Amino acid sequence: MNSKLQTPIDYLKGVGPNRADLLRKELGIHTYQDLINLFPNRYLDRTQYYKIAQLQRNNADVQITGRVAGLKEVTQGKKKRLVATFKDDSGAMELVWFRGFKWLKESIKLNTDYVIFGKTNAYGNTFSMPHPEMELLEEHEKNLRSAMQPVYPSTEKLSNKGITNRVLSKIMQQLFLETHGKFEETLSQDLLTELKLVSKSEALFNVHFPKNQELLARSQFRLKFEELFYIQLQLILKNLIHKSKIKGFPFDQVGEHFNTFFKHHLPFNLTNAQKRVIKEIRADLGSNAQMNRLLQGDVGSGKTIVALMSMLIALDNGFQACLMAPTEILSVQHFNGLNDLCKELNISIKLLTGSTKTSDRKIIHEALENGELDILIGTHALLEDKVKFKNLGLAIIDEQHRFGVAQRSKLWQKNTIPPHILVMTATPIPRTLAMSVYGDLDISVIDELPPGRRPIKTVHRFDSNRLKVLRFIRDEIDKGRQVYIVYPLIQESENMDYKDLMDGYESISRDFPSPKYQISIVHGKMKPADKEFEMQRFIKGETQIMVATTVIEVGVNVPNASVMIIESAERFGLSQLHQLRGRVGRGAEQSFCILMTSHKLSSDSKTRLETMVRTSDGFEIAEVDLRLRGPGDIMGTQQSGVLNLKIADIIKDNDILKLARFHAIKILKDDPRLIKDLHRPILFTYQQLAKYKNIWNYIS
Ligand code: ADP
Ligand code: MG
Repeated sequence: MNSKLQTPIDYLKGVGPNRADLLRKELGIHTYQDLINLFPNRYLDRTQYYKIAQLQRNNADVQITGRVAGLKEVTQGKKKRLVATFKDDSGAMELVWFRGFKWLKESIKLNTDYVIFGKTNAYGNTFSMPHPEMELLEEHEKNLRSAMQPVYPSTEKLSNKGITNRVLSKIMQQLFLETHGKFEETLSQDLLTELKLVSKSEALFNVHFPKNQELLARSQFRLKFEELFYIQLQLILKNLIHKSKIKGFPFDQVGEHFNTFFKHHLPFNLTNAQKRVIKEIRADLGSNAQMNRLLQGDVGSGKTIVALMSMLIALDNGFQACLMAPTEILSVQHFNGLNDLCKELNISIKLLTGSTKTSDRKIIHEALENGELDILIGTHALLEDKVKFKNLGLAIIDEQHRFGVAQRSKLWQKNTIPPHILVMTATPIPRTLAMSVYGDLDISVIDELPPGRRPIKTVHRFDSNRLKVLRFIRDEIDKGRQVYIVYPLIQESENMDYKDLMDGYESISRDFPSPKYQISIVHGKMKPADKEFEMQRFIKGETQIMVATTVIEVGVNVPNASVMIIESAERFGLSQLHQLRGRVGRGAEQSFCILMTSHKLSSDSKTRLETMVRTSDGFEIAEVDLRLRGPGDIMGTQQSGVLNLKIADIIKDNDILKLARFHAIKILKDDPRLIKDLHRPILFTYQQLAKYKNIWNYIS
């Protein structure tokens, strides 16, 4: 990095203290370096001219050549404006200003060729352009470097204070003059040659002053590659250092518990994906490094059995294991399920939640500390300081997105040497993002559902078709099925939502009267014990309908429930809809998901509903979600830096990302500490980035 580039922006000719202040506040530009990394959002073709007669309503980016035929001040009430009549050989229009009259009147030359540029409005048959950018044609032709004129990011404040795009371009020119356009290379010669990349100096020049389309494209490619390359380098280094520094317990044997279970008690054949993932986990557990693995698998893909078998490996090596779930309902379900699976094995499993009695707690605490207890299942209650293990070897977290990083690290501290950690989630992180966000976690994916599942039929129905939907529900219940009806619960409109839920419950109760029909209701304002009671009635089949808010979103398993009705489905996010739908389709019967909405739908809502109807592939749904919402809402993105990309786009530039990752891995394999001569520019750049951006610095 050129040392000159660290110069404060105030020192650049043409900037000065006022502009410097604005640049800092509005665009975060403090130094020459920051300015040079202000990349254009897009490029305009300034060799194209409009004729006035060609103008349409509301054109943006219009450029016209013509002459000012006259100027006059117009007063309307208290407001004044300056209006110029502007003519070309096809017609006439108006240019309008609301301030700066004096200067304008002095400097505008009548009947001289100008190029004007800006946005046009139409009033009746007359077009007008407010506050146009104006340049004498002669000047314009002299200054015209290329057909592609950069358009820089801007803010309203900047343009109001006169820092227009043209001014930014001029400042940028000045910067290139002062630095002679020479910038230190930041990639290795190897990479440049192999990928036929243009040099750093050439790339920067052409991004700001493109000579032609091809050079611009190559320059953008090179800068995007570089940006993604250094993010990947950082993530991969973090992962490597984690593995070399954080020792784990090596679980070197797969022993009696695992083998007995595998040979005699597996209730079904594992899918190939389950087998593969168990292998990956075994390899991790057997190595000397602490495991930190994310297990992604769609709802119903069978993550629980993988969790159990991993815990059995811990037990076989003389360690304890725990499984933490976000809700009481889920913990109880895991507890019952695992007890059932393990009933022939000689191991002890206990449940600890907020509602565990004090006397029982004491017993659990003791058994944990003296090692009598093998597996502990529960909610956040597991994190309490009082909960001490004799030797916790593996901690599993189900449904990661409900827990924060802080909670994960609390589990780490349950032992002097951190336990192996397996995080399970049914919310797939889009493939596009996984690499950049979780480059520092290892990822396993169950991408296959157990055999014999019938795809869930999903339809979208409007509220006006409610009668038909009710008839359908009645038919399914008569066939012996059970039905979920889910209402939205959004924090901001909580009271309204509860009202909707209760109204819904009442009208369902009228449509499905007792004693023939029994209805459960579960929502967040109920006491845990009542919730549990209602859930159990539904699980046991005593009730046919479960009316609920999204509390049933995660994990609940009732195979006989085959219909999911989602009310006001347009108010749910895609991943939530997908999670909810995953509550059905767990048994042998054909299952249905009905998305109920009003007629008023935004275009995003429409896309969400169409996506749900079209596909049940969690990854595909996650990709659509990413496109709709951007990466900001996806967990992990905040820490990963992908939100602050200057030139690359995490969604559109996915191929470049893959290439960058490939080369980052290749280079680190060959030279993990980047000490080889040919990697010097990379090491140097990485250290600079670490210094200025506080990124993980490992080599210093
Ligand atoms: P999730 O990944 O959503 O946690 P579960 O582990 O709860 O999924 O599994 C969903 C259902 O599928 C359970 O009833 C489970 O017993 C069953 N299951 C899991 N794996 C298989 C398999 N390989 N073959 C048949 N059924 C399976
Ligand atoms: Mg599960």
